[in-house]
Amino acid sequence: MKSIAIIGSGICGLSTAYTLVEKGYPVTIYAKDFPPETTSNRAAAFWFPYHIENDLRCIRWSQASYHKYLSLLDNPATGVSMRELQKVTKSSDAPATYWKDFIPAGSCRLMDKTEFPGEFQEGYTIQVPLMETQIFLFWLMDFLSQKGVKFVKDEIKEFSELIAKYSWVINCTGLGSRELCHDQSIYPIRGQVALMAPQKHMPIFLYEEQPFYIVPRKDATIIGGTFEENVWDTTPETATVQRLYQQATDLFPQLADCPVTGSWAGLRPYRKVIRVEQEAGQNIIHNYGHGGSGFTLAWGCAEDIAFMISN
Ligand SMILES: Cc1cc2nc3c(=O)[nH]c(=O)nc-3n(C[C@H](O)[C@H](O)[C@H](O)COP(=O)(O)OP(=O)(O)OC[C@H]3O[C@@H](n4cnc5c(N)ncnc54)[C@H](O)[C@@H]3O)c2cc1C
Repeated sequence: MKSIAIIGSGICGLSTAYTLVEKGYPVTIYAKDFPPETTSNRAAAFWFPYHIENDLRCIRWSQASYHKYLSLLDNPATGVSMRELQKVTKSSDAPATYWKDFIPAGSCRLMDKTEFPGEFQEGYTIQVPLMETQIFLFWLMDFLSQKGVKFVKDEIKEFSELIAKYSWVINCTGLGSRELCHDQSIYPIRGQVALMAPQKHMPIFLYEEQPFYIVPRKDATIIGGTFEENVWDTTPETATVQRLYQQATDLFPQLADCPVTGSWAGLRPYRKVIRVEQEAGQNIIHNYGHGGSGFTLAWGCAEDIAFMISN
C-alpha cells in the first residue's frame, strides 16, 4: 500500500487525510502547528463559495464538500449542523443558480423585502452546513487518530526531508507554501472578527460585498469581517471591532444588550488559481491557496488528490 505524508493540519490537510484513510492508505501528518493554532480555527466557518474567480473546478469541489458535510450531520459530535443563511445585497444580485443542481430541493428561495433590514435591495436564503471549528477540527483529529494516523509536530523546510520516505507527499500548508514552494503568488487576506454572546435563534447573515457577516455558533456569535490584502499582522484592531459591533447592533437591535466578549484576526491563504496539482515528475501533490473558501472546497480537492494517487 502506498504510504502518504501530509504537510499541514488545517482543514485541507485533515480532509485530505480523512479521504485517504477511508481508502485504506497509511497517513502521517506533519505540521508546524495543530488545531487550535491554525488559520482554519479562525474561520467562521460556513459552506459558501466566497471570492472565487472564474474557476470551474470550484463548482465540483464545493458540491463534493456540501455533500460530505451532509453525510456528517447525523453525528452531533462532529460540530457540523445545517443552518439558514440569509444573503443580502444592495445591488441586483440573482441567486447563484448552479447550486440548484446539487442542493436539496426547496432549500434556497428569494426573500421578501420585509424579511431583511431596509438598507439592502435583495436577498435569498439557503440552507448551508456550519462547521463549528472549535469542535469539528478536533473531531477530525480524533477520528484520524483512531484510524491510525500519526501526527508529527515539525516544520518542514524542504520536500527532500520526506519524499524518499513516502510514496506521496501532499502539501497542505496554506500560507506556508510561500516559503516551502517559493511561491510568491500566495498571499494573506486578513479577516478580523468580533465575538459576542451566543444567539440561539439567529440565521447566518451575509453581506458579501463589504464583507459583513454574523455567524451564530454554540460558543459565540462571530461578527465579521474585513478583507485586507497582504496584511500579515494577526492582532485585531480595536476600531475595527467597534465598527463591527456598531454595524451588527444597527442591523439587529436585539444584539445591543450583548457586549463584545473577544476578537481575533485570521489570514486567508489566497492564490488567484488554487493549486491542486502534482509537481511535475515528482511524488509531491500540492493542495493550497483556498483563500476564504477552504471549508467550502476542501473535500472536493481531497477527492481529486485521492484520484491522482490511485492512478
Ligand atoms: C476570518 C476568516 C473567516 C473565514 N470563514 C470561512 C468560511 O466561513 N468558510 C470557508 O469555507 N472558509 C472560511 N475561511 C477560509 C478558511 O479558513 C481557509 O481557506 C482555510 O482555513 C485554509 O486551510 P488550510 O488547511 O489550507 O490552511 P491552514 O489552516 O493555515 O493550515 C496550514 C497548516 O500547514 C502548517 N504548515 C505551514 N507551513 C508548514 C511547514 N513548512 N511545515 C509544516 N507545517 C506547515 C500549519 O502549521 C497548519 O497546520 C475564513 C478565513 C478567515 C481568516
